[in-house]
Amino acid sequence: MQHDLPSVTVSRLVSYLRVLADMEAEGVAYVTSERLGGASQVSAHQVRKDLLLTRVTSGTRGRGYTVAILRRELSSTLGLTRSWRVAIVGMGRLGQALADYPDFSGFNFSLICGFDRDASKVGKTLGTLPVFDTRELADRAREQALDIAFLTVPVASAQAATDLIVAAGIRGILNFVPTVLTVPEAVRVEPVDFLAGLKRLAFYLQPHAAVAAAS
Ligand code: NAD
Repeated sequence: MQHDLPSVTVSRLVSYLRVLADMEAEGVAYVTSERLGGASQVSAHQVRKDLLLTRVTSGTRGRGYTVAILRRELSSTLGLTRSWRVAIVGMGRLGQALADYPDFSGFNFSLICGFDRDASKVGKTLGTLPVFDTRELADRAREQALDIAFLTVPVASAQAATDLIVAAGIRGILNFVPTVLTVPEAVRVEPVDFLAGLKRLAFYLQPHAAVAAAS
């Protein structure tokens, strides 16, 4: 992964990849930056600029990009050609729902285990995941070579659980908790803030917002 790419670019690359996967499934062989931009709701110019920042080399003037090659190149840029080992910290309602989500493996993310501090959950298998005591995080992370943690604990426990994740040497946290976490620079937190999305939706559903957005 090229860490020097701006985060908005990374988000757009992820969108392009989703579009390319659909195109490949539909048997589309070539795609121009116009078409990729149209399907991703950005301009063709933006697509070309973004792809120039990556190691993508497959474009041909006129015909565009070979979908399969571009998809492979973007996957590689995004770090999706290696496998990532994931744990869920907080095996409550959301943690268990994620444990049951079947599609992670299609993207090289393997759910390995869950952690919780509730003794009634520790030692059980929830969904398909064995659940360990959070105090075992460091040992299990080493033993299972964990790369990423999904954080799904209550707000009040979030920083303490994060500190354990960081101390265990896990460098990526997908944070489902609606709070800001403090982590060292070497650790990356990606928030999944569905309440923020809901608030943005409320704004756009107001009658005045359509007028403001159009002007
Ligand atoms: P929950 O109460 O059902 O589950 C939380 C789990 O975390 C419990 O199993 C609890 O024992 C465990 N836990 C508490 N402290 C811990 C610690 N220090 N270490 C390890 N485990 C610990 O809560 P939930 O509904 O699954 O929500 C979890 C988080 O996700 C919350 O922050 C919530 O705001 C957020 N969230 C939930 C939903 C949802 O639909 N449920 C949606 C979006 C975000």
